[in-house]
Parts: sequence; structure tokens; C-alpha cells
Amino acid sequence: MYSQGISVNVVGGGIGGLSATLSLLAAGLDVHLYERAPALGEIGAGVQISPNASRVLHRLGLAEALARTAVRPLALHQRRWNDGRTLQRAPLAGPVEARFGFPYYHMHRADLIAALAGAIPAERIHLGHRLAGFTDTGDGVRAQFANGVGAESDVLVGADGIHSLVRAGLFGAQSPRFTGCVAYRGLVPESRLRDLSIEVTMQAWLGPGRHFVNYFVGGGQLVNFVAVIEQDSWTRESWTDRGDPADVLAAFDGWHPQVRGVLEAADEAFIWALFDRAPLDHWSRGRVTLLGDSCHAMLPFMAQGAAQAIEDGATLAACLAAAGPDPAVALHRYETLRLRRATRLQAMSADNKRRFHLPDGPAQRERDEQLAAGSTGWSFDAIAWLYDHDAAMATAGRPG
Ligand code: FAD
Repeated sequence: MYSQGISVNVVGGGIGGLSATLSLLAAGLDVHLYERAPALGEIGAGVQISPNASRVLHRLGLAEALARTAVRPLALHQRRWNDGRTLQRAPLAGPVEARFGFPYYHMHRADLIAALAGAIPAERIHLGHRLAGFTDTGDGVRAQFANGVGAESDVLVGADGIHSLVRAGLFGAQSPRFTGCVAYRGLVPESRLRDLSIEVTMQAWLGPGRHFVNYFVGGGQLVNFVAVIEQDSWTRESWTDRGDPADVLAAFDGWHPQVRGVLEAADEAFIWALFDRAPLDHWSRGRVTLLGDSCHAMLPFMAQGAAQAIEDGATLAACLAAAGPDPAVALHRYETLRLRRATRLQAMSADNKRRFHLPDGPAQRERDEQLAAGSTGWSFDAIAWLYDHDAAMATAGRPG
């Protein structure tokens, strides 16, 4: 098979690059991953993995590794910010698995990275390699790293995140957009929160100009929280920073005791300025393509950024495995299959900023009535287009 002969260099060892490497290796390609950091890792925070992504991860043989630390939440519970009234409660766990065939997971990011990296042969991962530039010669791509190493391959994949150098090399440098939101993220030992009787659900508390999310990770030993606050600008030099939980607590004055209780128990929080990028018309040029945040960075309000990156890798692998003699044709097919779906999620994520943060009043009451009636994007029927998607099989069908 031709694909056996295709070599692929993946730049970036985040969730997107690692899962793509696994998908590409499973498809029989000759893959190497290059990461600038001296070690693989992720910020101390949680990540939600919906069935469209766990389908890919299970097929890559990770079910057992994930089961060691992943939490399967009972429900998605959207609540009102002050009195905690239920706005919507949708079952996850068993009912999701019965309907979509694969679990909805809550994970510590480090656990997910460890599971992905643990399945890749060590000689395929090159740490301490910062991409400095690349050249597509027409019959191959040469990647140049800051440490002086050069690497040739048939295809180069930029999985190098929102500040992607590969993207800038393909389509020109463009700054990401500040979305007007910052997220404070942290982890609290579950043992400190027992008095709050927090259910094993994904709780999203919706309020004026902000929202709060909490769920269990690390085998249930930790509670992950994300406190999102609207603010006009981001003036700090770094786009992540240490934050003071007391500041977050002050911003959530008057919120439900469970929200405040989680924040009161937190030793630290990291501030994360939320940036996104305008959708691209293309992800590929010649033998070079993009995946994950490098091409479709989005607000996290659909919890789909990592999930879409995982899907990207599966579809890319399927396209390259089925490729004829010109990999550029496979990359074009990959982008055609992926772009519309990722762009749709970018738009839905952006719209959720407005929906989640409505000030109390008529529009908020209308939203709450829609949530109560189940006529939102979170009923099983409404979400099937997202969770039922089989990214590895997508080459056989229409664009997602
Ligand atoms: P990244 O994770 O940014 O990885 C890029 C990698 O490339 C890094 O390791 C970096 O060091 C490396 N790199 C960069 N430049 C170079 C270079 N020049 N040379 C070599 N290596 C390089 N998504 C979900 O699916 N579910 C969620 O619940 C969820 N929650 C979120 C909550 C918040 C608050 C935020 C901010 C995001 C959330 N997301 C979620 C989105 C998700 O985190 C991202 O979409 C995902 O992690 C992107 O993965 P990536 O591999 O594309 O990029």
C-alpha cells in the first residue's frame, strides 16, 4: 500500500499532535513528532472528552489507559447562578454510552497526555525541538529546528497550537483575537469539598457576564473548576498567569454556595486569557497542513477544541492512508472533510458566550425556558450530529 511509504512529521506535542501521531501510526505511516518543550505536559486543569473524540481514542487502544483516571459524569447540569435552580439536566454516563457507543469523560489533562504519549514508541517523539521554519520543495518538506536539527518528510503537520508557526508560514502572520473573556482555572482536592455534596456531574452555572464550570477529574480525587469572566481587554504580556482565588471569589459575589465553596477551598488559580482566530478558508498548502488550535482555535464554550483536534488526526490519517501518489491531494481531501465542521463549532462556541452570560431579564428568561424545554443544543437528538460523527470513517461520507 502506498501509504506505508508516506513519512509525516508532526510539530507540536499537545493533545492534537499526540493523538494525530497515534492515528497516523495506526494507519501505517512513518511518523515522527517534534515538541519544543523538554518534556510533554499540560497545564493543571481538566478537559472534557465527548463521545466523538472518545470513539477515536478507544479505537486507538486507549480505553484501558483512560479508564484508570477518567471520570464518567452522570449528567450535564446547567444551573442558575444565584439560587442554583436547575435550568437543564441531561443524562451522560450510561445513557450517552448506550446512545453513542462511547463514553463522555472528564480527565485531568496530564492524565490524557500520559495516556496518549504512553502509546507512542519513545523513538518517535523528539523533545526539545522548536520548529524554526520549513520549506516545501514540491517533492518533500524540510523542517528546520532551532537546535540545528533538520528533518525531511513527505508531509508536515502543524499541530503547534494557537500561535502556530506553521500556520504563519502557510498563510502569513496574524494575531489571535482576544474574545473579551478570561478563564480562571484550578483544581481542588475533593476531600476539602465533601460538605458541599457536589454530584459527579458537569455543572455549568450561568450568570450575568460570567459562568462557572466544575467537574471531577483524577479518578474523582480532584474537582476542576473554570470561572469565566468577561473583561474588556487583556493587557498583560503573557496570556497565562497566576491568579489569586480571592479575586475570583470577589467576582462571584452573591453566587451559589457551591460555586463560592469551591473557590474558597482553592489554593491557586491560573488566569487564562481566551483568544480565538477567525476561521480559515484553507488549512493546507502543498504538502503542509494544520490541525487543532493551529487552524480552528475556539472559545471553550462547547468543550470541543481538543475533541476536534482528536477528530482532525483521525480524518487526516484516513485520508493519507487512502492517498494516491500525491499527498497534497489527500491533504486537500482532509481539509474539505474537516473545515466546515470545525468552523461550525467555532461559531457555536462564540455564540455560547452571549447565551451563557445574558443579564437577568427577558432574554435570559427566554433562554431558560428553552433549556427547560430541552429545545437547545444539548438534547441527545440535537447533539447527535456532533457525538455520532466517526472521524476515521469520514472519508467515506460527506464533509462533517
Ligand atoms: P496545544 O495544546 O496548544 O499544543 C500545541 C503544542 O505545540 C504545545 O505542546 C507547544 O509547546 C507546541 N509547539 C508550539 N510551537 C512549537 C514549535 N515552534 N515547535 C515545536 N513545538 C511547538 N477542549 C475540549 O475538547 N474539551 C474541553 O473541556 C476544553 N476545555 C477548555 C477549557 C479552557 C479554559 C480552554 C482555554 C480550552 C479548552 N479546550 C477544551 C480546548 C483545548 O484545550 C484546545 O483546543 C486543545 O488543547 C488544543 O490542542 P492542540 O494540540 O491543538 O494545541
